[in-house]
Amino acid sequence: MIDLNHGSGLVYGGQSMALCDAPAVTARINAHVDAALVARNQQQRPRDYLGGSRIGEACARKLVYEVAHAPKDAGRDFDGGILRIFDAGHQFETLSIRWLRQAGFDLRDRGADGEQFGFAAAGGKLRGHADGVIVAGPDVGIRWPSLWEHKALGQKSWTDLVKHGLRQSKPIYFAQVQLYMAYLELEVALLTALNRDTLALHHEAVPFDAAEAQRLSDRAVDILRAAEAGELPPRIAAHADFYLCRFCAYAARCWENAQ
Ligand code: SF4
Repeated sequence: MIDLNHGSGLVYGGQSMALCDAPAVTARINAHVDAALVARNQQQRPRDYLGGSRIGEACARKLVYEVAHAPKDAGRDFDGGILRIFDAGHQFETLSIRWLRQAGFDLRDRGADGEQFGFAAAGGKLRGHADGVIVAGPDVGIRWPSLWEHKALGQKSWTDLVKHGLRQSKPIYFAQVQLYMAYLELEVALLTALNRDTLALHHEAVPFDAAEAQRLSDRAVDILRAAEAGELPPRIAAHADFYLCRFCAYAARCWENAQ
């Protein structure tokens, strides 16, 4: 039986209480959580293909580094904070799927074979996996079936998307849905963006743009060819302080390279 009375030996404010210092406890626990996330991420096999979700990346040279599995600069791997955001994104996607299905949208996130909808091209070196396909649903002005893509965004990014639209605000996601529509032979995509702060939902119908999809597909071929030949496309900027280079995980490697 526990005995917390006077004389039990328990000293309030003693070592056990000192350990309850909230910031220190938070830091210790988070160190364990983040280390576990980083370890799990490092165990994942790197992609041996160019993902359709990356084809809209502005810098072709960066894509070649990614495809060729060039090591990122020291300290530029995903940290625990980013990995928690990725995990949360998957949970938010599950929620959005449930809400849309409850509202009468026939949203399939797996094909008849139980696998994600996807495609492989260029001998399997270009691939994409779609979040889903809506095959039927209420009359909302969209002709089904449509590709369905989901993004969970922070307030600032979400507001920018609502204001400017997918093409201007998120060119990488725009390219992704164009390429997916081309390979999955769909004429429209529905992008659902969930605001991580307010849980507001924004939906945008994106029509297929055949010329843009062709340009992206050609770009993918060029990048794969360059990676295979060990070539590096030109840098996207003339100086390392260009804003995209400042955030690039390959910046040191890139600008130290004479090529
Ligand atoms: S540092 Fe700049 S130019 Fe080099 S790969 Fe990154 S984004 Fe491209």
